[in-house]
Amino acid sequence: MIDYRSDTVTKPSQEMLKTMITADLGDDVYGDDPTVNAFEQKMATLSGFEAAMIVNSGTQSNLCALLAHCGRGEEYIVGQGYHTYLYEAGGAAVLGSVVPQPIKVQPSGELAFADIEAVIKEEDQHFAKSKLLSLENTHCGKVIPLDYFVKAREFADKHNLDIHLDGARIFNALTELKIELSDICNYVDSISICFSKGLGTPMGSVLCGSKTLIDKARRIRKMVGGGTRQAGITAKAMDYALDNNVPKLINDHQNAKLLADLLSDCNELTITEPQTNMVYINLDESINSELMAKLLLQEGIKVSVGQTLRLVTHLNIDKADIIYTADTIKDVLNLISEALQQ
Ligand SMILES: *Cc1c(COP(=O)(O)O)cnc(C)c1O
Repeated sequence: MIDYRSDTVTKPSQEMLKTMITADLGDDVYGDDPTVNAFEQKMATLSGFEAAMIVNSGTQSNLCALLAHCGRGEEYIVGQGYHTYLYEAGGAAVLGSVVPQPIKVQPSGELAFADIEAVIKEEDQHFAKSKLLSLENTHCGKVIPLDYFVKAREFADKHNLDIHLDGARIFNALTELKIELSDICNYVDSISICFSKGLGTPMGSVLCGSKTLIDKARRIRKMVGGGTRQAGITAKAMDYALDNNVPKLINDHQNAKLLADLLSDCNELTITEPQTNMVYINLDESINSELMAKLLLQEGIKVSVGQTLRLVTHLNIDKADIIYTADTIKDVLNLISEALQQ
């Protein structure tokens, strides 16, 4: 099965599993796991922050960050399509009494500074307190350039806001921008990074920030049941992914481009040129997306159903799979249009 639903479907490789079982372990809630400690130190150094903390998932990482930055009655300004607003079950509001202030996301994936400025609240008893700007890179596979973060920092300083960056796929962005993690982290107050997406670990994310922020976040992680014991098993996988799978992300980007190119002559498809590992395809309204997904599944290709298809390339999809997929999609489209003509 070639699974394009997400890069979260990647499975740990044999080599990753082999290194995991060699991890030196201890109880991480006591701060005793040497593999976790070394990996957190490595991530702190790499990001240029004072501290880092491993977490079970990206959602837990963002929750810890939002609650560490904002208290009750304080608000974070966020894109309405960003993960920290839309896809985390309202966790910051439910568990932290933190108020989300969603705003429109630009086609580039950025937030317009004028839009942010328009919702920043002045000191007044009627209003929640504007505290944090929550950004995202990549957003829907789109890369936000370094220059935006330089401007965002200047803007945030002027308005007394912290910046959290949901960098679930930051290494995809860095691969395209050809810059280091610390280059972007210079301009934000915290970053969350997922390792269980394109980097292929079975679980795990990392939150990086100042020592004060991460100390606060550690208490919140414990509160939401995220303190794990012999966590070095997952830290070892993340460490492996950092060294071995980050350099492979470029393949996923090339595969996405190849898939888009191979399908570019299909009249029924409108394809957005991919910037990283996501190919967005709008299906002509004559194409029944449910039928198309069913026919593709019969040929061993799994996609999410929708009039906009999001095909995500990852570690477990190679160039031969891409060529097979393009051929199969063309066959299926022909089949559907022949059926329509009868
Ligand atoms: C997947 C994702 C997350 C959350 O990750 P989980 O590990 O699935 O909780 C956060 N932000 C973005 C942009 C993501 O794509």
